[in-house]
Amino acid sequence: MPVSANPDRRYFDPAIQTMPLEALHALQWKRLARQLDRVWSVPVPFLRRKLAAAGLTRVDLRSLADLAAIPTTHKDELRRSEEEHPPFGDYRGAPIHAAVRLGASTGTSGKPTLILWTRKDLEVDYAAAARGRWRWGLRPGMRLAHAHPFGMNAGGWHFSHGIEGMDVLNIPSGPPAGAQAVADVVEVWRRLRPDMYRLFGNVATTYADAARGVGLDPARDLNLTIAGDHPSEQYLTASSGLEALPLLGSACEQRDGAHLAEDLAVVEVVDRHSGRACGNGERGTLIVSVLEKDNFLLRYDLEDVVRWNLKACTCGETHRRLFYEGRVRDLVPVAGREVLPIDVALILYEFPEVSVPSAEYQLVRHAHATDQLHVRLEYDPSRLTDSHGVACRLRERCHDRLAVAARFELLPRGELPRFAYKAARVVDEA
Ligand SMILES: [Zn+2]
Repeated sequence: MPVSANPDRRYFDPAIQTMPLEALHALQWKRLARQLDRVWSVPVPFLRRKLAAAGLTRVDLRSLADLAAIPTTHKDELRRSEEEHPPFGDYRGAPIHAAVRLGASTGTSGKPTLILWTRKDLEVDYAAAARGRWRWGLRPGMRLAHAHPFGMNAGGWHFSHGIEGMDVLNIPSGPPAGAQAVADVVEVWRRLRPDMYRLFGNVATTYADAARGVGLDPARDLNLTIAGDHPSEQYLTASSGLEALPLLGSACEQRDGAHLAEDLAVVEVVDRHSGRACGNGERGTLIVSVLEKDNFLLRYDLEDVVRWNLKACTCGETHRRLFYEGRVRDLVPVAGREVLPIDVALILYEFPEVSVPSAEYQLVRHAHATDQLHVRLEYDPSRLTDSHGVACRLRERCHDRLAVAARFELLPRGELPRFAYKAARVVDEA
């Protein structure tokens, strides 16, 4: 990883991140061609079958444009491959003995699949992630505290090793685990005063409250400021599954979508129903082909909803930008449209009455077809006396912004479940 160069440079990897598009596309094709060769040379039986079933041989794939002829791969197919060829399936791009790390998908949409990394795969991921962390202002010699969980489907290992690879002092605490553990973490942070924190969801609040409880000022004593929880923060990183996460990048100072690592992945946004490629600003499903890793998939459907920003960016980076909108499984159908939690969150945060200190809400997805969006929303009865009036204005705003009728079920604060890490915003009801 080229870390030790000038820490004042603007990009982590200037040659790659500002590469002219023509050269970038040539590089993509060179790398894709190598992966296609490996389907037969390694071999990767799963992909060979897939290409054969589509009537494709290696000679039919002659340019980047031919990639679209390859059918997409879904998680179900990987699951089936693992069942038929236990335990790892027959879709791996490298011999199993070359793998040095195992992860697992979250399993929220079925039995988890296994993810393998070779040493090279890890290096590719770390270098890709370093571009994003450089954009945050992280530099060698800094101290970074984070509370990522460690485990098979968690980002803790990846995150830790990635920042250590940038010569950053890694201060991992794991998620809050009881009062004593939280107090111990706060004491370490007080002694070290990290330069930067990466804490998601309510984690920062938990630690900050504990610090105040022992008479500390989080900002002054720990250098910990709570960035807030505005839903648009979601657009600063394209946070998909671990299979592709580091390759999807982060936002530059324009904060107008996350710059991809297009030298490492071919990213497509397609209409879920027709398979048609989506244009600028249009929501679609994220499809990724991995270019530089030993373990790679071609046209893998990550079951995420994303949107392009295809405008050239003034920051000088040439790789395209993407907005991460949410998970396909969190789409709520309403009167022929599809609503995601972020659509509702962006509206709630226009109303401080229901979003300070945080908006706590749930989208209720009913088994039967409905022409009305059902939202459960907490409010503070001591601060908001006219809950009916707010519900009316929220309804109007939903109509204006999303073109759907909505019903807001207002509940006293504390009624909805809380989540230590990522909140589940969509619940299914009969
Ligand atoms: Zn930019």
